[in-house]
Amino acid sequence: MYAGVESGGTKIVCAVAHDPEDLIARTSFPTGSDPRAAVIQMAEFFREQDDQHGQIEAIGFGSFGPCDPNPSSPRFGHVTCTPKPGWEYFDVVSALRQALDDNGLSRDLPIPFDTDVNAAALAEHRYGAGRAVDSFAYFTVGTGIGGGAIEKGRLLHGLIHPEMGHIRIPRPASEVEVFDGVCPYHGDCWEGVAAGPAIAARWGQPGEDLPAEHIAWDLQAAYLAAGLHAVVCMLSPGRIAVGGGVGLAPGLLERVRPLLLHSLANYVDSPALLEHIDKYLVPAATGADAGVIGAMLLAEQSVTKK
Ligand code: ZN
Repeated sequence: MYAGVESGGTKIVCAVAHDPEDLIARTSFPTGSDPRAAVIQMAEFFREQDDQHGQIEAIGFGSFGPCDPNPSSPRFGHVTCTPKPGWEYFDVVSALRQALDDNGLSRDLPIPFDTDVNAAALAEHRYGAGRAVDSFAYFTVGTGIGGGAIEKGRLLHGLIHPEMGHIRIPRPASEVEVFDGVCPYHGDCWEGVAAGPAIAARWGQPGEDLPAEHIAWDLQAAYLAAGLHAVVCMLSPGRIAVGGGVGLAPGLLERVRPLLLHSLANYVDSPALLEHIDKYLVPAATGADAGVIGAMLLAEQSVTKK
């Protein structure tokens, strides 16, 4: 049996399954500002599931970033420079291992660790909108913008892990004048102007309260198209899926597609893009549990690769 943790900015989801797509048990609780309390809750849940449903073989961990997923790094398994109180430079994998020991699960279980977005990208590639494509990019646009990329079935990591939500995008001069963006690090990076908190700050109300004809959605579509232009040019993904509360807003992707084509100006000359963009830029299909399902896929990979 595989276990998974999706540790997001606001909540933590834990689950177990024999087949990652078919959860046996699931729980969630607020992420909070006390990571030690959080890992104890995780360990207690996994102890119960291990007793009831059979031995856990590995626990995949998808964490909010920035974090260090490089197994050869001394900071592997740490959350790094997050503004989230209590979690900065917290060694969450070691703390979870200790809590598992304290709960009698001291089997030295593999705990593969990656970003929550990379985990969700894996799930989306295996079960959702990325099926049957070799190279794939997944974005979630919600409380932040996160992106994960897969090439020939493997997640792209590079130096640490991609931070695609923090690229710079062109902005209308009229917008630069009135809105500085909300990213605590970069101000008006992509996430700083196009994620949920940016929409709320710019327009004084959250996106879900803004009617479809509101000018905010024209700007939102333009921002997403601008970011995706960069993604298409840099990664050349075979398909792009977009999820998240903002990304899946009704009608948004339909507005982004023609803007993306217009922006690329026929330069990326592929029929998949130019003739079938409705099948190229698609809504994510795995749903709200993509992160924890992907975490269990990390667990599965860690066992089957041995
Ligand atoms: Zn930023």
